[in-house]
Amino acid sequence: MSLDAYRITSEPYYQPHGDEIEIFRAAYDERLPVMLKGPTGCGKTRFVEHMAWRLGRPLITVAAHEDMTAADLAGRYLLEPEGTVWHDGPLTQAVRQGAICYLDEIVEARQDTTVVIHPLTDARRVLPLEKHNEIVSAHADFQLTISYNPGYQSAVKDLKESTKQRFLAIDFSYPPPQVESAIVTRESGADAALADVLVAIGQRSRNLQGHGLDEGASTRMLIHAGRLVRGGLPLATAVQSSIVLPITDNPDVRAALRAAIDACM
Ligand code: ADP
Repeated sequence: MSLDAYRITSEPYYQPHGDEIEIFRAAYDERLPVMLKGPTGCGKTRFVEHMAWRLGRPLITVAAHEDMTAADLAGRYLLEPEGTVWHDGPLTQAVRQGAICYLDEIVEARQDTTVVIHPLTDARRVLPLEKHNEIVSAHADFQLTISYNPGYQSAVKDLKESTKQRFLAIDFSYPPPQVESAIVTRESGADAALADVLVAIGQRSRNLQGHGLDEGASTRMLIHAGRLVRGGLPLATAVQSSIVLPITDNPDVRAALRAAIDACM
């Protein structure tokens, strides 16, 4: 199977806010596995798309979920008219053909998936396909990137120490205000003044983290609000729909968030 569909042909807009591009490039040069650490909606996926484009590698993205098993990554036999036929999973395709494989929120997946990635993330660089009786050596261009949200993890659901220690990490906390404002302007079409207000709202909401909110408003949410305003909605309505209502169901926390937001408008 060709990986042409996974090639990124035009530059995904990415606004750097540190040395993440240099670090990722250096990691890729050494084919070291990378963990992008940060809250949801802060640019991790966009970053890996941008890097795959820069490096000229196809990108296979897999969003992990709690029912995901090792077979969903590695592959399985399927019953077809001519009998059972082996189908490579997305990770196996990336390993064989030299793509960057991005496992988004890998910690969501069942524990057996980590067993699959371990031999790929050390000097062996192999993917054992037990059910297919095969050990696949990684293509020279293959690289593994995962994302990890430190805010979500509980003691029961966390990456094992033996997994964590295999990865280089790049920190993706929220960008500084001027950078985030530029991103909101570019991605939502909001003017600079509106983007500044939205970024201030984002910062206020992030101050409520740990005081009723698990996480503050993401850059993605600020972009949504900007798009609604551009579409003609009043700012207060846009912010209510794109930030306040999605982020919490607790009436008291909503009131506190509303008050914090009103102070910015
Ligand atoms: P994550 O993968 O961390 O959940 P995404 O990469 O999907 O988040 O980011 C959400 C949205 O925020 C993106 O679609 C993009 O519009 C915007 N975004 C966030 N950070 C950046 C950035 N540094 N440069 C460009 N766009 C960004």
